[in-house]
Amino acid sequence: MPQSLKSDAHEILSRFGVTATRYTDGSMDSFSPVTGEAVASVTPDTADSTATSIAKAHAAFLAWRTTPAPKRGELVRLFGEELRAAKDDLGRLVSIEAGKSPSEGAGEVQEMIDICDFAVGLSRQLYGLTIATERPGHRMMETWHPLGVVGVISAFNFPVAVWSWNTAIALVCGNSVVWKPSEKTPLTGLACQAILDRALKRFGDAPENLSQVVIGAADVGQALVDNPQVALVSATGSTRMGRIVGPRVAERFGRCILELGGNNAGIVTPSADLDMALRAVAFGAMGTAGQRCTTTRRLFVHADVYDDLVPRLKKAYASVSVGNPLTENVLVGPLIDKDAFDGMQSALSAAKNAGGTVHGGERLEVETDAAFYVKPAIVEMPSQTGPVVEETFAPILYVMRYTDLEEAIADHNAVAAGLSSAIFTTDLREMEQFLSAAGSDCGIANVNIGTSGAEIGGAFGGEKETGGGRESGSDAWKAYMRRATNTINYSRELPLAQGVVFDI
Ligand code: NAD
Repeated sequence: MPQSLKSDAHEILSRFGVTATRYTDGSMDSFSPVTGEAVASVTPDTADSTATSIAKAHAAFLAWRTTPAPKRGELVRLFGEELRAAKDDLGRLVSIEAGKSPSEGAGEVQEMIDICDFAVGLSRQLYGLTIATERPGHRMMETWHPLGVVGVISAFNFPVAVWSWNTAIALVCGNSVVWKPSEKTPLTGLACQAILDRALKRFGDAPENLSQVVIGAADVGQALVDNPQVALVSATGSTRMGRIVGPRVAERFGRCILELGGNNAGIVTPSADLDMALRAVAFGAMGTAGQRCTTTRRLFVHADVYDDLVPRLKKAYASVSVGNPLTENVLVGPLIDKDAFDGMQSALSAAKNAGGTVHGGERLEVETDAAFYVKPAIVEMPSQTGPVVEETFAPILYVMRYTDLEEAIADHNAVAAGLSSAIFTTDLREMEQFLSAAGSDCGIANVNIGTSGAEIGGAFGGEKETGGGRESGSDAWKAYMRRATNTINYSRELPLAQGVVFDI
């Protein structure tokens, strides 16, 4: 008899050293989308306990900010080591709690390891500039200083990676962190904190409460959002959430990184390698059951190749293996819950009403009727209308025919979100046009790879209603620090800038 997901999850948590009362005695149930069963009951934080955590984090920040950055990097190096050791267990817990396949669960942990490696290097590269000054005997430079407490709010679909992107960078930048994971994935939150605690223990002299996790829903998130001691709120989730969080943080002049919804598209041109496009679109649109912020949701296919590519795509959709993601050879796991299923069904019926032809999308009985598995849907649309312009967080791919690339790019950009995009072409002109200032308006624009599956080395994020935030690689670290411009006068004169005279 196979072990239940509940005892599996509890064993993993106990191996990480999480106290059993934290996940057995609470009032908030945590469900596995794999079977729909409750796997734990956690104790939610309150506004008061969250404020206490923030105050403790602020005290930790005051000590951590003066620890030399390369030494702070050493903590993150140890954290990367602990993650390597914990990869199998944490990956499985991600699969249990978020319904990802073992390879996607492990892949998410690998992303955590990668960002740790990146952050360790960064800890010796928090460079400022030396800037030419117009005044003789002066030197001008910029210095980057730690910012304060970083509040992280994360979504269910990347329950561990998003926290690590923020935390690894925040820690080397000299900040402390308070994290509120999604209320749908609290267990991975408790596990991640326990893994970081191991690294902190080995590190030795880090301040207490440098990183903490608070459990709960939007009300606990808002306690982070409204607290003036939280210098930066990094919030990942729906645009609906960002619309509330962004203005509230702005009202108190706090800083925000918003990583919100996407409505990502691909364009397949007549010169595309169709075999490659087929595989990239299939993974981008069906992988993680369409529950990635970068999932391919719209596809513009040139009329010359439409009748070649689309029937092959439909065939791939019809034959894809949907099922318990913890069993072998399954590519598409469950939706997170019933709300996600209802949202998918209402988008499909709106698409039909708007003239779309729907293939797939029906519910599949897998495991129990408390779990929500669906056949991914491919919908041929006469034009970009109705639900096509919105993000539905489920495996629906809207396919449209085009004849003119400029019009396809205009349609591509004619949605509110601006996260990820892709063109499939072997024509240099088409490729450059797509990547140019007049091309894709997204934060991520790819050529001959799909919209999903970003690496940590680049800055991750999107434009427009995706929120404008950037996380992870490149110079995204600058959002986690404050910049000071310093001018030093080593002369015996006091010349004023712009030649201003003020003799007394
Ligand atoms: P969600 O917006 O329902 O919840 C995300 C988080 O925000 C949760 O922790 C939730 O408790 C919290 N929250 C919700 N309302 C809040 C409020 N008013 N104040 C403070 N906190 C609040 O999103 P979800 O269903 O968990 O995730 C799916 C969404 O996230 C999709 O839209 C997806 O595109 C987006 N997403 C974006 C990225 C990105 O990097 N751009 C990454 C992952 C997911």
